[in-house]
Amino acid sequence: MLDRTGRNITYMRISITSACNLRCRYCSPEDSSSGRDILTEDDIRRIAEAAVRLGVTHFRITGGEPLVSPILRDVIRTLKSIPGVSSVTLTTNGVMLEDRIPMLKESGIDGINVSLDTLDSKEFIELTGRDALESVLSGIRASVKAGIPTKINTVIRENTHAEALVSWASREGADIRFIEMMPIGYGRQYKNVSCDEIRETLERSFGEFTETFSDMAYENGPARYFRQENLAVRVGFISPIHGCFCSSCNRVRLTSDGILKPCLCYHSEINLKNMLDEGINDAELTKIIEDAILSKPEQHDFGSIGSITEKKNMVSIGG
Ligand code: SAM
Repeated sequence: MLDRTGRNITYMRISITSACNLRCRYCSPEDSSSGRDILTEDDIRRIAEAAVRLGVTHFRITGGEPLVSPILRDVIRTLKSIPGVSSVTLTTNGVMLEDRIPMLKESGIDGINVSLDTLDSKEFIELTGRDALESVLSGIRASVKAGIPTKINTVIRENTHAEALVSWASREGADIRFIEMMPIGYGRQYKNVSCDEIRETLERSFGEFTETFSDMAYENGPARYFRQENLAVRVGFISPIHGCFCSSCNRVRLTSDGILKPCLCYHSEINLKNMLDEGINDAELTKIIEDAILSKPEQHDFGSIGSITEKKNMVSIGG
C-alpha cells in the first residue's frame, strides 16, 4: 500500500530473536538478549498475513542472529506458503551458515545477506568478540555454491579495508554493499564515514564505477548499485546519513518482542504482541498495521542526535 507520502510499502523485516552469537562493538557488545523470544511462529504468521493483505510481498528474516533461533525453518516455510509473498530472505552474521545451507535451500530461501566487516582475523575478533572469521567466509562460499543469491553487507568504519573486501567478494561471486554506520545504539559512538568516500577509494583502485539498476524485485530499496569491468560482482552503497534515502524507503520493521516500527529512527509504541495476546482479530490487526504505515514519518533525523527517539540497540531491532 502507499503511505501518506506515496511510498509503496512492500517490504517487512522480521526479527525472530534478540539473541546473537557475536558481540559486535557497534551493535551488541554485551548480551542484550532477554533470554526468551517473545513472538511465536503463529504470531509471525498472523502479522505477516495481515501485512500481505496490505501489499507487502517481501519478508527479510533477521535478529539478533536468526540462525540461533529454533523457529527459523518453520518461519521461512510459513512465510513462503502465504499467497502473495514473492520472496523471503535472510540476514545473518554467517557464523553458523555453512551447516545450515541445506536446510535453507530446502526451505526455499530466496536470498542471503551476510554481514562481514573485515577479512583480518585479529580485527574480526576485536570487532565481534569471537574468533569466527573462517566460519563466516566458509558460510558465504557455501551459500554461493548452493546457488542462493548471496550478498555481503559491510558497515563502514574509519579503517574499513574496502578494496580487500571487494576483491574477495568478486572472487567468490557475492555482491557487496557498504552501509553507513547509523547513530542507533552503540553506533552513535562511531565517526560516520560516507559511502562516497568508500566509492572514491574503490574507484582509485579498480577504475570508474557505472551505476546499474537492481535486477532483483525484492531489492527495490535504498541501495544504489554499481558495476566495474574489472569486478565480477556489483558493489552497492546504502547512505542513510550522507544521502538521506527516505524517499525510497519501502519498509517497516517488526522487532522480536513484537513492536512494529514504521521508521528506524523513532521509538514506536505499536506493540502487536500485546494486541495479539489480548485477542485482536485479523481485521483489527490489519487495520493497526495499515494505520502504522500511514503514520510512517517522511524521513529520519539521524543528523540531529537529540531527535533520535529510538533507544533500542540494533540487535533488538534487526538492522
Ligand atoms: N545477526 C545478523 C547479522 O549480523 O547480519 C542480523 C542482525 S544485525 C543487527 C543486522 C545488520 O545490522 C548487520 O549487518 C549489522 O552490521 C547492522 N548494524 C548493526 N548496527 C548498525 C548500525 N549502527 N548502523 C548500521 N548497521 C548496523
